[in-house]
Amino acid sequence: MAEKTRIVLKSGKDQSLKRFHPWVFSGAIKKIYGNLNEGDLVSVYSNKDEFLGIGHYQIGSIAVRIISFTEIEPNYDFWKSKIESAWELRKKMGFVEHSETNVFRLIHAEGDGMPGLIVDYYNGTAVMQMHSIGMYFIREELVKVMKDVLGDHLKAVYNKSAKTLPFKAEIESEDGFLFGESNETEVLEYGLKFKVDWEAGQKTGFFIDQRENRLLVQKYAEGREVLNMFCYTGGFSFYAMKGGAKLVHSVDASAKAIDLTKENVELNFPEDSRHDAFAADAFEYLKDIQNKYDLIILDPPAFAKHRNSLHQALQGYKRINTRAFEQIRSGGILFTFSCSQVVSKDRFREAVFSAAAISGRKVRILHQLTQPVDHPVNIYHPESEYLKGLVLYVE
Ligand code: SAH
Repeated sequence: MAEKTRIVLKSGKDQSLKRFHPWVFSGAIKKIYGNLNEGDLVSVYSNKDEFLGIGHYQIGSIAVRIISFTEIEPNYDFWKSKIESAWELRKKMGFVEHSETNVFRLIHAEGDGMPGLIVDYYNGTAVMQMHSIGMYFIREELVKVMKDVLGDHLKAVYNKSAKTLPFKAEIESEDGFLFGESNETEVLEYGLKFKVDWEAGQKTGFFIDQRENRLLVQKYAEGREVLNMFCYTGGFSFYAMKGGAKLVHSVDASAKAIDLTKENVELNFPEDSRHDAFAADAFEYLKDIQNKYDLIILDPPAFAKHRNSLHQALQGYKRINTRAFEQIRSGGILFTFSCSQVVSKDRFREAVFSAAAISGRKVRILHQLTQPVDHPVNIYHPESEYLKGLVLYVE
């Protein structure tokens, strides 16, 4: 058996595990029996010696990420049933062999019962991103399982964990292919073409989670003058163009992102003079846009990565949204997002409400947005619901 070591929790600290929340915080631990290293499997028990779960041990505030709440041996078949379940869900949701979309999230960490593991599917290439050493250690086995489950649908697997593994373990991971090889980097999303750079790009190369929200921009874009702030690969911009926008400006602080956006525009709308892209800082750019735009998208990076930067993050959301409310043309539509896991839906909404109040504009909520079905939320782990968005009508 792999689980030689065990953790016993302090009295009363077993409640969240009994409700299937998959994290054990280091403060809840009463005693560790045996020699425990980062990435090891460990069984967790209550103070009354009840088995609670088995998971991967990690040095840090989240000490264990539970992979099973029943006593099992996490062997090949165990992982196979998990990955099969994730693949089945994507199949049922219509992502496999979709005629217009061949990019989706295959494994969404806790959302799919596999804490520490993200897998994004790009037209045959699976890009894996491990956030825990436990998952990193079993990467070869996970690749075998994926080949088994996906069959011909899987042509290559790329590991991109160099920047996401917890640094305390001091394990160096080199990015690269674990199976096959592919330089087919063009993907389709609702018929639009995107070049994905999984080697150098942010996250696994593309922000798949905004797919349905981008489609909503298309719906409202007709005849509008659009600002896509924090554009990255330009996703929202093409949907706006497809939806008949009069003008689209894409802005990002990264010059590389602007190049990528321009390249993607050429792929989809060659020589279309409605689009332009600028490398600029959002706070600077938004200082003086006056009433140039009547559809604005604000999709910033996670302003808060940790709880201690929460206050600053909320100020950031308030500031950019205030600027947008103050200047958006009358009858304008604002799409505003937060992808910070530590910023709750309510806190984000409060920040946007304050911004609206400061601007003094009349604002109505049209839509409340979240992440799509290929980023499922584990009902016992509310933290997996990280993407929040509001679509607002500004009179
Ligand atoms: N909307 C994009 C994803 C945005 S990711 C999509 O649909 O794919 C966040 C982007 O914000 C990154 O590309 C990053 O380069 C950019 N960014 C970060 N800080 C910024 C700043 N201060 N001003 C402008 N862009 C910034």
